[in-house]
Amino acid sequence: MANFVQDFAHGSMEQKDLLGGKGANLAEMTRLGLPVPPGFTITTEACRSYLRTGAVPTDLRVEVTRALRHLEDTMGRRLGDFHEPLLVSVRSGAKYSMPGMMETVLNIGLNDASVQGLAELSGDERFAWDSYRRLVQMFGRTVLGIEGSVFADALEAAKVARGVTADTDLTAQDLRELTEEYKEVVRRESGRDFPQHPREQLDLAIVAVLDSWNTERARLYRRRERIPDDIGTAVNVVTMVFGNLGSNSGTGVAFTRDPATGQGGDYGDYLPNAQGEDVVAGIRNTLPLSALEEIDHEVYTELRTVMRRLETHYRDLCDIEFTVEQGKLWMLQTRVGKRTAPAAFRIAAELESERVITMDEALTRVTGEQLSQLMFPQFDREAERTLLTTAMAASPGAAVGRVVFDPRTAHEWAERGERVILVRKETNPDDLEGMIAAAGVLTSRGGKTSHAAVVARGMGRTCVVGAEDVLVHPEDSTFTVAGHTVAQGDVIALDGSTGEVFLGEVPVVPSPVTTYLTAGLEEAVAQAGEDTETVQLINAVDRILRHADAARRLGVRANADTGEDARRARELGAEGIGLARTEHMFLGERRQLVERVILAADDAERDAALADLLPLQRADVTDLLEAMDGLPTVIRLIDPPLHEFLPDLTDLAVRVALHKERGASGPEVERDEVLLAAVERMHEANPMLGLRGVRLGLVIPGLFALQIRAICEAYADRRAAGGDPQAYIMVPLVGSAMELHLVRDDAMRIMAEVSAERGIAIDLPVGAMIELPRAALTADRIAGAADFFSFGTNDLTQTTWGFSRDDVEGAFFAQYTVNGVLTVSPFESIDQRGVGRLVEIATEQARAAKPGMSLGVCGEHGGDPESIRFFQDVGLDYVSCSPFRVPVARLEAGRAAV
Ligand code: ADP
Ligand code: MG
Ligand code: MG
Repeated sequence: MANFVQDFAHGSMEQKDLLGGKGANLAEMTRLGLPVPPGFTITTEACRSYLRTGAVPTDLRVEVTRALRHLEDTMGRRLGDFHEPLLVSVRSGAKYSMPGMMETVLNIGLNDASVQGLAELSGDERFAWDSYRRLVQMFGRTVLGIEGSVFADALEAAKVARGVTADTDLTAQDLRELTEEYKEVVRRESGRDFPQHPREQLDLAIVAVLDSWNTERARLYRRRERIPDDIGTAVNVVTMVFGNLGSNSGTGVAFTRDPATGQGGDYGDYLPNAQGEDVVAGIRNTLPLSALEEIDHEVYTELRTVMRRLETHYRDLCDIEFTVEQGKLWMLQTRVGKRTAPAAFRIAAELESERVITMDEALTRVTGEQLSQLMFPQFDREAERTLLTTAMAASPGAAVGRVVFDPRTAHEWAERGERVILVRKETNPDDLEGMIAAAGVLTSRGGKTSHAAVVARGMGRTCVVGAEDVLVHPEDSTFTVAGHTVAQGDVIALDGSTGEVFLGEVPVVPSPVTTYLTAGLEEAVAQAGEDTETVQLINAVDRILRHADAARRLGVRANADTGEDARRARELGAEGIGLARTEHMFLGERRQLVERVILAADDAERDAALADLLPLQRADVTDLLEAMDGLPTVIRLIDPPLHEFLPDLTDLAVRVALHKERGASGPEVERDEVLLAAVERMHEANPMLGLRGVRLGLVIPGLFALQIRAICEAYADRRAAGGDPQAYIMVPLVGSAMELHLVRDDAMRIMAEVSAERGIAIDLPVGAMIELPRAALTADRIAGAADFFSFGTNDLTQTTWGFSRDDVEGAFFAQYTVNGVLTVSPFESIDQRGVGRLVEIATEQARAAKPGMSLGVCGEHGGDPESIRFFQDVGLDYVSCSPFRVPVARLEAGRAAV
């Protein structure tokens, strides 16, 4: 016979795949000898069979009969018996918790006859009718698909007619009439009578629960939570116990620790004289769990013993559902409870202190995402606030500032010390300057992987995206939302953790965890002062993070382009720089110089322009090497296509056309014309696949040489100043070993020159950024010319998939997620089978060609938990991510190692 039904007495918590979470835990509690009402679980295997065939398997009907008979024998009662009826609940329960997504029906087995039996059995007629009317209501809604409000309206009407406000004030007679009315509703709305036969009720309820696996909202929830669609739900059939049998009965939920703060002690809500769903539905105000102590001391003590037992057994925070029936405690559910980020750290650390779990386990109980949540400043929840809208939370943080609509203004205002929020329909690379200057970014379009979101996350800027009801009018520098018009200069506040946008100032409270990470334990504890909860949180984070650092095998470096970023990264625990982008050094004021390089009429002019860039570049590198003294600093030569440093083609063309129309002349006009010609000449259909990276370096004479010289001179300067610079030269977009050989030869020559000039030995490692499939596939050859590799997984993802990030994120990816081609953006988490396979191949080849060669990752993926795990398994030496992600990566690398 198929494995379709299993008694609670025979299962265990290991069987979540088969029994679902609820069923497995009910079985476990039964096994522990805790007071669980007897019952059985219809397995997920039965559900999968039902989903495949669309019909209830005959085997299932037979197995249910056997299990039900066994249950009836155990209880000494029959389902729906006229005299001593057995009643059951039919409860959904998948492997992964899907709160509120699926159905549960209580009081199955009641009908016109057995309601009398229940009244006799309990000696409480009111209770019997209350249970029956609940069944008709739940069954009507869940099984027969009748709108819940129809029943709710009837109940309201009954209360009004009797002049009472609480359900509990309705008499037995009132409830009997209400039940009749409900049955009438069923007849009217569903076109059939409420089924009187208990077994028919049971079978229909089981099918309804199975069907609830595939409701629209359940599917949506699974997609969002990345729960597979084909695992199915289990169905639990549980003997009913009654919390609505008078004042010595009741129902409640409880936690073994506070899931909000992690504080030890029992927490929960209790509702006397009620059935389970009343607590969640908020029908009446609940009492705190401690009130049960007054109501029934014995039950309270037993409950606390059970809770302690569960926590010891599960070795974690448990949440439970329980019911008290006339002074007898029944356990109806337990599971390892969800918790907030601070609670996760505190619970893990405190369970370890109590020697319930080991330090390794404590580490696995927290996530990098939770740590990053703890790092951002937060808005003061107590403060008065005007909510404008709630959109997508793209990059956490709490940012307050004046609204600006263009990057120039953002930059100018920030220069004079204003905090600004950049508001755009969407952002593109031209907005970078503005995004750097802004405290936060708000866009009306785009999703979590839009340009704004990705860039803001990388920079640690607060960002809210896709605020569709925000209408941005850049022409008159305003936006409108929810009846408000917000003008340039008005103050707004963005909560990047919730996606909320507020009008006006909202006070911000700094994160004590960030204080800890940057200033150290002592300082953070001193600042927390009397606030013991915060002190405990900081201590918890400290202990767990230190353990992660001790355990991890991967190094963690930062992507940082300036000395300031590098210092910050170092404070946050970076063990070097995995990627310093030099193109950032060509922006701003220096654009003019770059223009001169590009527009140079001959070699002499170009060399002069390059010579002017040299001291600037050298100063940048010196700053970086000083900040990272003693630690490896990988400096990547210029990567993007040159036109990115020039004005926009359309803007320029318009300007030149205007000059012409007005008959203007002079040096300004001439310059624009020359510039336009250059921009046109350099215009590429696919710049991403065009003249960039090493190609540019080989084609524009002197450009790489300038950068390499700047690095060597900075190195020499730092050495002369008594420092310990560890500069690495990285060549971007290498596709062929020959490219790297050419650059390397040049680098060797320049190193020799500077060595001679400065009188010190300079032998800096030269390596390749592996970001083209061809590079990965010929890594053994490239390794011949490289001292190190770093995987540029952003570009490697683009070039492997053949799509450009800026063009496909947003609507296209959204569609691809809906139809299941993608479960997650490959730019967020590495595509292990495709892009990851290339990393694997290249790693194998590199290790074979040059054992011990340094291999790292410097793409966005370096800060992503799943990807970090993958990189460790592949055997890389380090990951590199944005400074703000460094603590996250440290923690995740530790988790990956235990
Ligand atoms: P959910 O998964 O939505 O919490 P449950 O299956 O846990 O749904 O049931 C809903 C409510 O009904 C809970 O409060 C639960 O405690 C209560 N309940 C379920 N089965 C029984 C039962 N056999 N006796 C009494 N109350 C029950
Ligand atoms: Mg429940
Ligand atoms: Mg790249």
